Amino acid sequence: MVQAMKRKTAVHVNLGAIAANVRSTVDHLPKGTQMFAVVKANGYGHGAVPVARVAAANGATGFCVAVLDEALELRKHDIKLPILVLGITASSLALEALVNDISLTVGSLSWLQEAKQGLLAANEPNLVNKKLRIHLAIDSGMGRIGFIEDDEFSAANEFLLKNQDLFEVEGIYTHFASADSADETYFNYQVKRFNHLHDLLTVRPKYTHVANSATSLFHAACHSDLIRFGIGMYGLNPSSTKGVTDLPLPYELQPALSLRSELVFVKQNHPGMGVSYGSTYNSQEDEWIGTLPLGYADGWQRRMQGFKVRVLDEWCEIVGRVCMDQFMVRLPYEMPVGTEVELIAADSTAPNSLRAVADYAETIHYEIACLLQDRLPRIYEN
Ligand SMILES: *Cc1c(COP(=O)(O)O)cnc(C)c1O
Repeated sequence: MVQAMKRKTAVHVNLGAIAANVRSTVDHLPKGTQMFAVVKANGYGHGAVPVARVAAANGATGFCVAVLDEALELRKHDIKLPILVLGITASSLALEALVNDISLTVGSLSWLQEAKQGLLAANEPNLVNKKLRIHLAIDSGMGRIGFIEDDEFSAANEFLLKNQDLFEVEGIYTHFASADSADETYFNYQVKRFNHLHDLLTVRPKYTHVANSATSLFHAACHSDLIRFGIGMYGLNPSSTKGVTDLPLPYELQPALSLRSELVFVKQNHPGMGVSYGSTYNSQEDEWIGTLPLGYADGWQRRMQGFKVRVLDEWCEIVGRVCMDQFMVRLPYEMPVGTEVELIAADSTAPNSLRAVADYAETIHYEIACLLQDRLPRIYEN
């Protein structure tokens, strides 16, 4: 996608905030627990490579991504720390992962058998003594990926004992479905399920890990050799259900992302003049309307109609439908073209915080950040 560099509209990322979040998190971890920074989906929209570099410089010792391509992007940028792919990678790509020192998630015996065939068939002389690093995913109740049944898991254990020349079991892990909830019933059920399968494993992996941000922040007692820290690193409270009080953060986290643009057109509307598709808004009196040069194609959703963004120090309502590349706001008085507009603030208490935008759009802040398209340049600040 073309990056719109010539339009004064960008996602600003405060790398200092990310650095501070990583440092505080590492400081709060029990001694010996490592932090793997989760930089999947282009670092939750913040930019995977810059975030990864800052995270590494401030104490992260590895990375998690969703897909192999994201891992390869980090390697291409000379990032040498361990990388774990959290999703399921095609078994036919085992060799490529191995060659690039990338660890893969495994959730079934059949995957291991297929990967073995592939690795043997590749017959790469350079790979003698090199093993594919794997993390065994346990589905303790997330219902997404991973081993569920004792029998299959024990069979995988046997298989791995016999194929230690090909596979190194680097980790065993699980993922919680409700670590951000005050009700711990299901969480505790998952802990039990995980421990049960974990105890069937006779191969000793280097890392046992269970903690995403919510688990790390709200269930600190849960044992982990490493945490997979995503949303918290970006300064956002993972507990963020609309209408439910957030679980309090045990230490401060600073949001890093803001979205800023400027007025590109300003006009006076008179009574009866409509605004945007379908004329869902009609001026009732003489009023000033400003146009912004971004829209739903940038990830600023159509449903943001009615939300208030900050223009200088004024909160201005989005009037009329948000178009693909433009939208309009009602101004309190005539403001010049070029006036700065802040759509998303890097301040968790602001009325236009990422969280507030997500609440308005009836989703979670993760999704709003990920939706911000590549057309928006990322500008890095310290
Ligand atoms: C995305 C993801 C994480 C990170 O989650 P956050 O809530 O952003 O900390 C951790 N583990 C797995 C398996 C994931 O898919």
